[in-house]
Amino acid sequence: MPWPTQILPLRTLLAPAPAAGHGSFPRALVPAGSRAFPGALVPCALVVVLLAVLPGAPGLLAGPLSAQATASPGPGDPDGPVVLHAGALFDGTGDELATHVRIVVEDGRITAVGTDVEVPAGAHEVDLSGWTVLPGLMDMHTHITSDPADGYGESRFRDFPGTAALIGAKNARLTLLAGFTTVRNAGASEYADVALRDAINAGMLPGPRILTAGKGLGITGGHCDQTGYRPDLFPETGVEDGVFNGTDEVKAAVRHQIKYGADLIKTCATAGVLSAGTEIGPAQPTPAELETMVEVAAMLDRRVMAHAHGIEGIRNAVRAGVASIDHGAVLDEEIMEEMIQRGTYLVPTMMAFEYVWDAAEAGTLAPWSAEKAREITPIARESHRAAIAAGVPMAFGTDAGVFPHGTNADEFRLLVEAGMSPARALRSATLEAARLLGMEDELGTVEVGRIADLVAVPGNPLEDIELMKEVGFVMKDGRIWLEDGVPAPDAR
Ligand SMILES: [Zn+2]
Repeated sequence: MPWPTQILPLRTLLAPAPAAGHGSFPRALVPAGSRAFPGALVPCALVVVLLAVLPGAPGLLAGPLSAQATASPGPGDPDGPVVLHAGALFDGTGDELATHVRIVVEDGRITAVGTDVEVPAGAHEVDLSGWTVLPGLMDMHTHITSDPADGYGESRFRDFPGTAALIGAKNARLTLLAGFTTVRNAGASEYADVALRDAINAGMLPGPRILTAGKGLGITGGHCDQTGYRPDLFPETGVEDGVFNGTDEVKAAVRHQIKYGADLIKTCATAGVLSAGTEIGPAQPTPAELETMVEVAAMLDRRVMAHAHGIEGIRNAVRAGVASIDHGAVLDEEIMEEMIQRGTYLVPTMMAFEYVWDAAEAGTLAPWSAEKAREITPIARESHRAAIAAGVPMAFGTDAGVFPHGTNADEFRLLVEAGMSPARALRSATLEAARLLGMEDELGTVEVGRIADLVAVPGNPLEDIELMKEVGFVMKDGRIWLEDGVPAPDAR
């Protein structure tokens, strides 16, 4: 039977029964490597599992389950305070789990965290005693309005302007239910990303908090332009499309994106794997163009993220003062040292490299993309391993959209396989990501005063990082979207 992993917390069924309920939890902090807590069965999860394993039982989200979810308080938007009873907590500030913690949420904010905090009268209580609670996960490189393409870019001729927004609505739900409560979106066509962000913020549909770039900015013929086509097939691109040549056009292009709703600026400092007709090594914008971009964006309180593979483009972007190098395939010791000095983040998007590598091997990429994927992926693996070892600031980012949305958490496995400790990998997707956005006073940790974005996984992710793919509880802005693996009624 095919299990949707984020819906079925199977490990809760397989875990040993608790010895003596809540009272058996040690109240002190436990070291990272130790077995944190007994996997108490959450009654509601058991019901889900039993329903699902009954022969001929309806699908997980069909009638009986919906009825069951309605009968209990269940997911949704309860009035008044919510109290989470967490078996364990990774609060994002350190390397360890705390056990048997209560988290009180009121008006979308965390108002109390601790082992002895009082449960406010009339609170909606959520039993997460078999779970580890973490800050909501944050992916710093998504293309939420895109689905995987074959590298030929044929959809440009078929899709209507509204198509991207509808693809985004589908992916926003998948992303949120996978535990990603915030994403930094790295560019979209026709402001579909801005429309999607605004629709989510207005409560029209479920999705993560989106901070988005609008259209990516780059040079004529660069990775952020339309490349590889005959000139009569598309109108020539200009500043309104994010294409600049010279510092004056850079100023206009930055201000144009901000005028239409960009929260940040994305630039293409080098070519990319999936664009046609370009080599991946050379730098694309000039150092002066990048410096101007960072300067005028900063004047309007926006940060710049730079897509970059080759070392020269990476150097130019780091020295211009961008907030992050995304992908960062080719790194040397000198530039890693400079990134550490300046606090420039690397957003490695390991999943994207693995996906294009696999697609190249499977013969499903366009030949020009496959060639670049084969050339760059082994180099990127080495660079990322070296950056982790050197202590380059790193924020979690996947490039979801290059591969299917909702699977973002597999990046945790790749980070750990490349030498990152599980705790640091979790912080890269929480506190470090919040710092990259300049939102560390609002997001990224479980502390009093923070926005109530919280997720839970069934076990200890410091021992088994792949548990991050089994998120079974999601709260965003104090509202519960997933509980015991069951989506809230308007997220089904
Ligand atoms: Zn990207």
